[in-house]
Amino acid sequence: ESYLHKPRQLLSGAFSYSLPEARKQHKFLTVSPNAMKDLNLNAEYELNKENNTYFEEILGGQKIVEKTFPYSQAYAGFQFGQFAGQLGDGRVINLFEVEGDNGQKFEIQLKGAGKTAFSRFADGKAILRSSVREFIISEYLNAIGIPTTRSLAITSLTKTYAQRERALSCAIVARFAPSWVRVGTFDLYRARGDRKGLRKMADYCIEHVFGGEGKLGDVVIDGGATKYDKLYLEIVRRNARTTAMCQVYGFLNGVLNTDNTSIMGLCIDFGPFAIMDKFNPGYTPNSEDGENRYGYDNVPSSVWWNLTRLGEDLGELIGAGPKFVNDESLLKGNIDAELEGKIIGRANKVIDMAQQEYQDEFLKTYIETFGKRLGLAKVNTGDNDELISPMLKMMWETEINYNKFFVTLSNIEFFKKPGGIETNSPAQSHDYLESAKKFIPLNFQNSKGWSTEEIAGKIAEFLKIYHQRLIDESTMSDNSRLLVSKSFNPKFVPSSWVMEEVVETLRENKCDDISTLKKLTKMICSPFDENSWGEELPDVQKRWMDSGES
Ligand code: AMP
Ligand code: MG
Ligand code: MG
Repeated sequence: ESYLHKPRQLLSGAFSYSLPEARKQHKFLTVSPNAMKDLNLNAEYELNKENNTYFEEILGGQKIVEKTFPYSQAYAGFQFGQFAGQLGDGRVINLFEVEGDNGQKFEIQLKGAGKTAFSRFADGKAILRSSVREFIISEYLNAIGIPTTRSLAITSLTKTYAQRERALSCAIVARFAPSWVRVGTFDLYRARGDRKGLRKMADYCIEHVFGGEGKLGDVVIDGGATKYDKLYLEIVRRNARTTAMCQVYGFLNGVLNTDNTSIMGLCIDFGPFAIMDKFNPGYTPNSEDGENRYGYDNVPSSVWWNLTRLGEDLGELIGAGPKFVNDESLLKGNIDAELEGKIIGRANKVIDMAQQEYQDEFLKTYIETFGKRLGLAKVNTGDNDELISPMLKMMWETEINYNKFFVTLSNIEFFKKPGGIETNSPAQSHDYLESAKKFIPLNFQNSKGWSTEEIAGKIAEFLKIYHQRLIDESTMSDNSRLLVSKSFNPKFVPSSWVMEEVVETLRENKCDDISTLKKLTKMICSPFDENSWGEELPDVQKRWMDSGES
């Protein structure tokens, strides 16, 4: 056991066997109902508690499934722009793979299950607060359609404490994803100079993460594309789409280092994350990010920076092209200067191409997703400058609640003529100022001390732009707008303070009463549908909903 936990540098490969550390006391808290369903597990779990000891012991790190060989992954990473050497799962233990509801394979792992070969100087523990936060946010992001790693269950380690600013109680989150490979995994092979290993890892990803070359998107390039070109571009496109969606929903990871950049474009490793309550392009949830590297406006370029490092990691493979990729000299590593020049030239060309694709794919997803939130049937390229930018500027200036804005907007009627008769074309006159007031809660104040009239005036300016956009798109109706937007505008958003409240309650009662955690889990698993939130804790629900009032 002490050998399993001994910090060490791997000379080759990307994993090391590990075992959950024994803990004094466990209390299984809850599961994500969505995760249970997606993993094909018994949805009746909560009704059937007595029979779940085994399930709970495995997911709480008490025992391992017979004939499985748990392991931790090694990776490296560029952290805040600096190469940080070998990192790896410092507190994560991969248990086994399962097949999900649609036949997809998932890797199940425990976060906070103790030290591993990659714990370095740290303790292998995860505190209750960050575990609850990860459990909640990953299942929420999934519920609103953002690609993410998932959480299945959360277990409190009742008598286990971690020394942070003070001694804090710990927990284990059982997480799952189709793959946990990161950009940092490739950084590790590059840093080692392990060319063969890097090719093997790339081949593994093509076959076992993406399901074969045929599943990768096409790449159009002079002389033809290799499977490595396709792999790189696939990873770039996926990350572009996820990054765009995160921006549209105001979600920030806070630590987007290459070790926290999934090759599947999944949101991964949630530390100091947040969903913005108010739109602020300079916002970062990471108080230690002094340069604002991972602040809202810098996120798209920071993720591209990471993907450029991946392009360099894959440099030889994407540089070789169809003509040289299986060349004997390349496989043996005795590349002459001429071939090296060719490889560098082509690799740069592929990375430039990838940058263009990143921008295009980002913008496409960005405009389309905002379009859905705005209830538009289709979007135009002009929408970014003419509709989305003025909207964000208005929200930044007025400081009204970011998410609630979309919900309120979708309920304003632009097509009813006075007298309530719905027409096919939007009513040509609309009282913008009157509608604007619906966005401003009672006693609302912004940090600039604006009057309600000033705030309403700003909102009204945007409503006019939006109304004109609806008129231009002649096929719209109030109902059709609502139909589009309602599955893109969650009614509930897990604000930081709501998660803090739940954590504080759990801490105070030592996880004896988990009713608020269960309530929050229900709400974030079905954020579009308040009918699924249950009858429990109506006052708490109301208070959490009003949080949107700023
Ligand atoms: P992060 O920035 O949180 O994704 O973590 C960076 C690296 O530090 C990863 O390799 C983590 O596994 C590791 N790490 C973070 N916290 C701990 C901990 N308490 N014990 C061991 N390793 C940790
Ligand atoms: Mg990480
Ligand atoms: Mg982490």
